[in-house]
Amino acid sequence: MAIPFHKELRIGAYMFKQKLLGRKRYPLVLMLEPLFRCNLACVGCGKIDYPDAILNRRMSAQECWDAADECGAPMVAIPGGEPLIHKEIGEIVRGLVARKKFVSLCTNALLLEKKLHLFEPSPFLFFSVHLDGLKEHHDASVSQAGVFDRAVSAIKAAQAKGFAVNVNATIFDGHAAPDIAKFLDFCSEIGVGVSMSPGYAYERAPDQKHFLSRQKTKRLFRDVFALGKGKKWNFLHSGLFLDFLAGNQDYECTPWGMPARNIFGWQKPCYLLGEGYARTFKELMETTDWDSYGTGKYQKCANCMAHCGYEPTAALDAVRNPLRAIWIALRGIRTSGPMAPEIDLSRQRPAQYVFSEQVQKKLSEIRRDETLGAAAKKQASTAA
Ligand code: SF4
Ligand code: SF4
Repeated sequence: MAIPFHKELRIGAYMFKQKLLGRKRYPLVLMLEPLFRCNLACVGCGKIDYPDAILNRRMSAQECWDAADECGAPMVAIPGGEPLIHKEIGEIVRGLVARKKFVSLCTNALLLEKKLHLFEPSPFLFFSVHLDGLKEHHDASVSQAGVFDRAVSAIKAAQAKGFAVNVNATIFDGHAAPDIAKFLDFCSEIGVGVSMSPGYAYERAPDQKHFLSRQKTKRLFRDVFALGKGKKWNFLHSGLFLDFLAGNQDYECTPWGMPARNIFGWQKPCYLLGEGYARTFKELMETTDWDSYGTGKYQKCANCMAHCGYEPTAALDAVRNPLRAIWIALRGIRTSGPMAPEIDLSRQRPAQYVFSEQVQKKLSEIRRDETLGAAAKKQASTAA
């Protein structure tokens, strides 16, 4: 994994400890979404389609820290929405770094240069800038011209101030392998590591036509990796996850590996899929019917090969089979020959559509809180 050695060591030690404790399920990365509001509206985004009353809600800094303590994962990724819109984001990150969590702050970078003063460079802090490809491709992906140039300018400004910066790219159908290869060359030139994942087919995303099937994902990544032979692209992934993307591993996902906490609570079963919420992390782990999710088990999981479901599987596999991980590191990703068998979809349970019900429930809670807040305010002013 192309990450600093101390990070690798800490995460390895954490995983070893979980193994010694005999834990069957444990988190590696907390996906903390302190808000859903964003200053972009990307066509493949399934995270921001909420009424204003929900988009205006924020998790407090204390709620964010409590979530990190409760979950115990050594890493915290902060996606959104756009986290830099959150007024307490500097404080939230400081509190997480003070807890010695590795923090990956995901941002579309529109506000990054303006808000850099809120942060201090640290071996525990990484900016992860959303870039889906080169200029033309990225600006189309985020539906706004000029965003690529602003993001690259912000990356350079952050690097100049001593921050560690990576990029995260979501790959959709229609992105040609040679273009992805040129994008990866560009990332090497500007000195950023890359986290790359096929987009999950969010049911609320405006563009439903460009999500990749698993077959297409595997063929596309084989083509990309074949173009990368002999190059030193800096992927922020384990070799086993890349090998999985190229169709060489028959993994099942590990949804509890990157649990998600947002204004609704702890999301069941994973960061990508919101089928219900638990009030505590313990409740999430103990009450989710894990066996009813995953490719081959549930229709909404049919085409998923996303990083947050399968990177934990690859990481656990590396701990269980270190020789396999070493072999792939030495051999490189296989880009030809037979693929691992595809998961049978014939017995998957049909999709359930619960989004509207969840939104209505949250809106009722918000209205109740506002009524109680107004009553308490009135009582206080009468007493004064
Ligand atoms: S993908 Fe990210 S940047 Fe784009 S709209 Fe969604 S949250 Fe915002
Ligand atoms: S396959 Fe796994 S990681 Fe992907 S959406 Fe389903 S439960 Fe989540």
